[in-house]
Amino acid sequence: MKKNKLALMAVIAMLVAAFFALDLGRYFTLDFFRSQQAAIDSYVQVNPVQAGLSFFLVYVAVTGLSLPGAAIMTLAGGAIFGLLWGTAIVSFASTIGATLAFLASRFLLRDWVQEKFGDKLKPVNDGIARDGAFYLFTLRLVPVFPFFVINLAMGLMPVRVWTFYWVSQIGMLAGTLVYVNAGTAIGRIDSLRGILSPGLIISFTLLGLFPLLAKWMVGTIKARKVYAKWPKPASFDRNLVVIGAGSAGLVSAYIAAAVKAKVTLIEKHKMGGDCLNTGCVPSKALIRSAKLLAAMKRASEFGLKSAKADFDFADVMERVQRVVKTVAPHDSIERYTRLGVECITGVAKITSPWTVEVKTAEGTRTLATRAIVIAAGARPFVPPIPGIDDVGYLTSDTMWDLRELPQRLVVLGGGPIGCELTQCFARLGSRVTQVEMLPRIMIREDPEISEMMLRKFEREGVTVLVDHRAKQFLSENGEKILICEHGGREIRVPFDALLCALGRVANTQGYGLEELGIPVTGLRTVEVNEFMQTIYPNIYACGDVAGPYQFTHTAAHTAWYSAVNALFGSFKKFRADFSVIPWATFTDPEVARVGLNETEAKEKNIPYEVTTYGIDDLDRAIADENAHGVVKVLTVPGKDRILGATIAGEHAGDLIIEFITAMRHGIGLNKILGTIHIYPTLVEANKYAAGAWKKAHTPKQLLKWIEKFHAWMRG
Ligand SMILES: Cc1cc2nc3c(=O)[nH]c(=O)nc-3n(C[C@H](O)[C@H](O)[C@H](O)COP(=O)(O)OP(=O)(O)OC[C@H]3O[C@@H](n4cnc5c(N)ncnc54)[C@H](O)[C@@H]3O)c2cc1C
Repeated sequence: MKKNKLALMAVIAMLVAAFFALDLGRYFTLDFFRSQQAAIDSYVQVNPVQAGLSFFLVYVAVTGLSLPGAAIMTLAGGAIFGLLWGTAIVSFASTIGATLAFLASRFLLRDWVQEKFGDKLKPVNDGIARDGAFYLFTLRLVPVFPFFVINLAMGLMPVRVWTFYWVSQIGMLAGTLVYVNAGTAIGRIDSLRGILSPGLIISFTLLGLFPLLAKWMVGTIKARKVYAKWPKPASFDRNLVVIGAGSAGLVSAYIAAAVKAKVTLIEKHKMGGDCLNTGCVPSKALIRSAKLLAAMKRASEFGLKSAKADFDFADVMERVQRVVKTVAPHDSIERYTRLGVECITGVAKITSPWTVEVKTAEGTRTLATRAIVIAAGARPFVPPIPGIDDVGYLTSDTMWDLRELPQRLVVLGGGPIGCELTQCFARLGSRVTQVEMLPRIMIREDPEISEMMLRKFEREGVTVLVDHRAKQFLSENGEKILICEHGGREIRVPFDALLCALGRVANTQGYGLEELGIPVTGLRTVEVNEFMQTIYPNIYACGDVAGPYQFTHTAAHTAWYSAVNALFGSFKKFRADFSVIPWATFTDPEVARVGLNETEAKEKNIPYEVTTYGIDDLDRAIADENAHGVVKVLTVPGKDRILGATIAGEHAGDLIIEFITAMRHGIGLNKILGTIHIYPTLVEANKYAAGAWKKAHTPKQLLKWIEKFHAWMRG
């Protein structure tokens, strides 16, 4: 660090240290001010200019050095100098002080911070460069962070000094006025009656209401800004237009129709979206057939001499389609029309915050609507690996058309979809190689769960290649080959078919988001606030397109907030609650989770206790020949509060519901233990886990006394 920087840092450190060492903070309390008020008032009467100047300089020093005391000084400013002069002095002093703190932070730290964290700060820097003045104005008006933090943080960002100065002065003016006004009232308190004077009550009411009013003002200014260039229709034909009829869109439309809103649901492909046609439903149907085959292979374990399955892969895939067809009426145009939803088959495009254009077989129409819900879903991610297009690939969108079983299948991806499909195809007879770049499959779960699944897959004949990065695809002498990199070596994997299961990317292009300037996040989902609103307060997004989770149940969950806020937000808006989100991977054994696991607790530095119960000990699991798996519960140390639970085992996706309910409603393990569970069931595993926790928390001293009591009773 350069000498001048070191010198400045030393001066600031000395002044701050002196403030605390000499306990100067005692002069910045309301009590001290009240005790000195009479003396101060008489000094001000005799020396108004000196008093004003001294007050001004002290205020600048306090804010410039980020010392505590500015709020009290603002109140005192009102009490000493009155509303007009008090506001003028405080407004300039606070802005100059803030700018000095800003400059000090910039001079001392900006280069270092930007050099060290520049990559991570890029989105913040870009946002500040684009809208810095507005962000600053918002932070000044709605003081969610202490002002000194804003001064120092803004010094590190690409904001011009002059912009910082004038935005701060204007942004803080309203707050200064309210505080100084409250201060003038404090100055007038000279008796108990003064405390209850209407002026004082109004001043303090304003003080309390100010943050709410400021928030409302910022919201209104923001909304005006985004809507400015769009002409608003005089009236609307609809209350709500929903784009996409997957899980999120269907739930949004259902809710709107249920509360008698006029709602139109637009779907360009198949009603039911991903879950019904290419996701949950077909995958679970395929898993069921594969599971039956796997059980038959274990016939001898069940006391049967043999069981042979004669099957054709094409028939299995036809069954999958039969299941989809059977479920399809739940999501059909007929059902939704009966429910009161107008369903249109066509491609939707948002053309303004209040209009949606639909291209149908009959032509193009424009619908005027008060609100829009974007539920456009996601699509499989296909990595740009050289040669991938030449060898061809399947995804979860296209694999359902397969009627011939691939002999050698490469599955790219060790996440939930990759794992479910890997096991299915292996059980149906493919030789599957699963390739994962990370050190383990099911990376979101704890390491021992990943390890358990890896061992299970290997026992079922799957080759699992973790820590292998797919680098290139080739065709050599008519054979397809994947080249992976592993520990600096090249590994060649010959195959017949390739399935990409590397996650799903939100559909954010081609239907108006770009034209409306609706931003996407770093994860490439539509950016929404806690109410599921985009930057246009009447346009909402939910489901896979908005994230942060990509499940059918979370799509339905976020759809509820989108639809309810879109229709009733002018009266009351609800914040999306992501506090208890469960999920399951439907491998065999299933892996289900709610809340924290150990890995996340460690990453987030959250103290926890772990209780485990091995399902190999459970009567029903033993009777079912499924005696494997674990229930793992995390609790707050020394307290009966559940932080999270993971279950790996048969029907884990069903068993976890007890922990979901417990977490959602604040129920602890004592209550689970005190609930009668039917014998013999798999769900008893939860009760035994609760029992293990209880045993570990028995009051040992009390037991010793009870033992003595029994001994005494025996005589
Ligand atoms: C193989 C697989 C297995 C899965 N298993 C499970 C599981 O077991 N449990 C679980 O919870 N989740 C599972 N999922 C995830 C689940 O399917 C999705 O999270 C869920 O379907 C997302 O619903 P959505 O409504 O957000 O999107 P989607 O279902 O993708 O719906 C979006 C719809 O919008 C339409 N659309 C897009 N743009 C336009 C436009 N401009 N105009 C008109 N229409 C448009 C699309 O055609 C689509 O129908 C699985 C996914 C896959 C791929």
